[in-house]
Amino acid sequence: VEHRRLWSKEHPAATADGRAVMLSANVGSIAEAEAAREIGAEGSGLVRSEFFFMRCTGYPSRDDQRVEYGGICEALSPHGVTIRLLDCGADKPLPYAGQKAEDNPYLGERGIRFLMERPEQLHAQVAAIADCADEGHPVKLMIPMVISPGEVRTVREQVQGDLQIGIMVETPASVLALHHLLPLVDFVSIGTNDLTQYILAVDRGNAGVARLYQEFHPAVLAAINQVVVQSHAAGVSVSVCGDMASRPDSAIALLALGVDQLSSGIDAIPEIKATIAQVSSHQLQALTEKLLGASEAAVAAAHAAELTAAVQ
Ligand code: PEP
Ligand code: MG
Repeated sequence: VEHRRLWSKEHPAATADGRAVMLSANVGSIAEAEAAREIGAEGSGLVRSEFFFMRCTGYPSRDDQRVEYGGICEALSPHGVTIRLLDCGADKPLPYAGQKAEDNPYLGERGIRFLMERPEQLHAQVAAIADCADEGHPVKLMIPMVISPGEVRTVREQVQGDLQIGIMVETPASVLALHHLLPLVDFVSIGTNDLTQYILAVDRGNAGVARLYQEFHPAVLAAINQVVVQSHAAGVSVSVCGDMASRPDSAIALLALGVDQLSSGIDAIPEIKATIAQVSSHQLQALTEKLLGASEAAVAAAHAAELTAAVQ
């Protein structure tokens, strides 16, 4: 008989046998950070700074950004807050950026590529995040859509002092060349939404191919497994901030694959926390083998759903 752990808003998430799981929230504003705190999130593993930029009518200054990010940190204090550099483009165009129409916006100027072409905006944002760190907030900086070490180096060059810098692993390039990126980063966070889209060559927003958008596809699970194994070997912690962290069965699958931290949608947190509290480490271990052995997405998904249903 498993020991069933009680869970509550106030206590950190943990499995039935006491393995702590850092369960944080994805937020896009100070109001959302407050809601995340209310629901018991342990900080934020993803602040989508582009939502702040999209609420502004022109590029926010370093000071504007410091106030916004500082407010988010205060709302979630004393927990850590990971601020992602502006990830506009593709599905999140910035009206005042003057970006040209692109035939393939998901393969175009988005994520860090956008800021690499706009050094003054990169500088202002990195400086604002560093200001929050200087004010004593436990803040980290995260770079979206990375494909090359040069992108990490360019961001690092902007920082004086010891701000923690990590990358989103959401391109196949960052998975396959991770060994070249790991020496440059303090943490990684897997963006399963984009990673799934790019590994499977399936547009994440196209209803016509939605049935092919499979987060449990063996190639996606193998990529996540590879990222966890390689990162841990290098002493680097792994978070997931894609939607897989926002549904109980895929969240359980991520824990089975050894992910250290989940960053989930605010509304999903109570259900994810309750599910985690019911599973044990050995149930997760058994699931790992089933997930990595499945040759079809449906089979892997069914294994995760089976464990989730059994404990709910
Ligand atoms: C992701 O790609 O999984 C992610 C978290 O980033 P976004 O959904 O904002 O692209
Ligand atoms: Mg993404």
